Amino acid sequence: MTRGNLIVTWALLMISVPMAMFWIWPDIAAGAHLPAALKLLAVGAGFSAAAAGLILARARKWAGTAEQLEIFAAKLPSEETHLEDQGPHELRRLARTLQEMAGRVRRLVERANLEGARREAILACMAEGVLAVDRNLNVIFCNEAFAQAFSTPTPVREGRTLYEVVREPVLRDILETVVHRGTPETGRFQMPSAAGRWFEARALPLGGEPDGGALIALHDITGIERQEQVRKDFVADVSHELRTPLAAIRGYAETLLDGGLEDAANNRRFVEVILSHALRLNTIATDLLAISELDAKAEPSAPPEPVGVVEAIESAVRTVESGAALRGVRIIREDCENDRILGYRFRLEQALVNLLDNAVKFNRENGSVRIEWARTKNGQVTISVTDTGIGIAQEDLKRVFDRFYRVDKARSRPAGGTGLGLSIVKEVIERMGGTVSVESQLGKGSRFTIHLQAAE
Ligand code: ADP
Repeated sequence: MTRGNLIVTWALLMISVPMAMFWIWPDIAAGAHLPAALKLLAVGAGFSAAAAGLILARARKWAGTAEQLEIFAAKLPSEETHLEDQGPHELRRLARTLQEMAGRVRRLVERANLEGARREAILACMAEGVLAVDRNLNVIFCNEAFAQAFSTPTPVREGRTLYEVVREPVLRDILETVVHRGTPETGRFQMPSAAGRWFEARALPLGGEPDGGALIALHDITGIERQEQVRKDFVADVSHELRTPLAAIRGYAETLLDGGLEDAANNRRFVEVILSHALRLNTIATDLLAISELDAKAEPSAPPEPVGVVEAIESAVRTVESGAALRGVRIIREDCENDRILGYRFRLEQALVNLLDNAVKFNRENGSVRIEWARTKNGQVTISVTDTGIGIAQEDLKRVFDRFYRVDKARSRPAGGTGLGLSIVKEVIERMGGTVSVESQLGKGSRFTIHLQAAE
């Protein structure tokens, strides 16, 4: 009750009590007890009715204001409504507090909505696939990248079951485990439906608790997997290549120790075989070193510089000419204008030596190797090495630049081949921003062409 109300009530009492006394007193003085008692009763009833009326009016006012407050609170925070500054004093204070709180709640909700929208936009445009599920494994969120990986039509409606969206058992197992255990999980899997691509999935519990749903992110690791496979294949190939010469060296050394040394007719031959396999091991080691240097991306410290094509060709020819002479193969160098390429001399020479070495190795007796070069209109220099050798079948052409690939192993090995030469050529030329191509006709010969950027 407010102070004003108290004063009014007190004043009414002060007026009505003497008036009632004034009204009843003559009957008391005259000894008329019954009329006095009846008048007292009437005064009491009047007072009670007034008090009841007052209380009722006040209760109505409270109920009305309380109802308004309830409606206001129920509409929070979505609708913006205003509370009238009226009603009982105590409730008016509560209403003002509620009104202030409503403002704060609305601002908080707006900020949360903005934050949520931002996060959703980031997740939606991420290259990694992202999916979130609730505790019942129903989809809460699924971005475009995730849907694409699983060939699911987009947009993925919220509320769809995980089983409708994901058919990959590994992924489903991961999500189930995360939802039930509440701990992070990872896993790798290959997807035949996505052209055999490899994915790594990392899942986290939503809210960091069990039964709170889970979020999973997919990383495409096809490149990494492929590299790992290439590395494994490479190690297997190297071991295989080393085994043959090592076994031969060991076998012949044991034969020599077991009496071969005294076998005057054969001991020299045994040692020659050991030497030839040792040389082969040396060739393999040299090629492997070249490969590992290229793999380590050991870029020359100096920037690319103009390299005279004629000088590089002359130097490469000098390296292979004794071998060519031994096989009766003629090396013909066309007298073209000296062009300059932009690159590194030692790399160009390395590539040319490998091409010339092959052109001699896979040539026929009295065959020839022709070297030509020219400048193209689009600012490139092409250098081609053409031989009159055995040629390469069409189906092998696309694989000759692969590591350890040999068309005819029986012919390549005795000739000292490792199957690494052309892969080195390709890498070396590509490192200088160029390309290498091949044309060949079985039984007639092959032409390998290097394309490099001209220096000016
Ligand atoms: P290798 O050390 O065996 O020569 P390369 O990588 O240089 O390895 O060549 C791969 C394979 O390509 C060779 O084993 C050979 O079968 C084929 N090849 C390369 N160059 C020629 C060529 N000029 N003529 C015919 N076959 C060739």
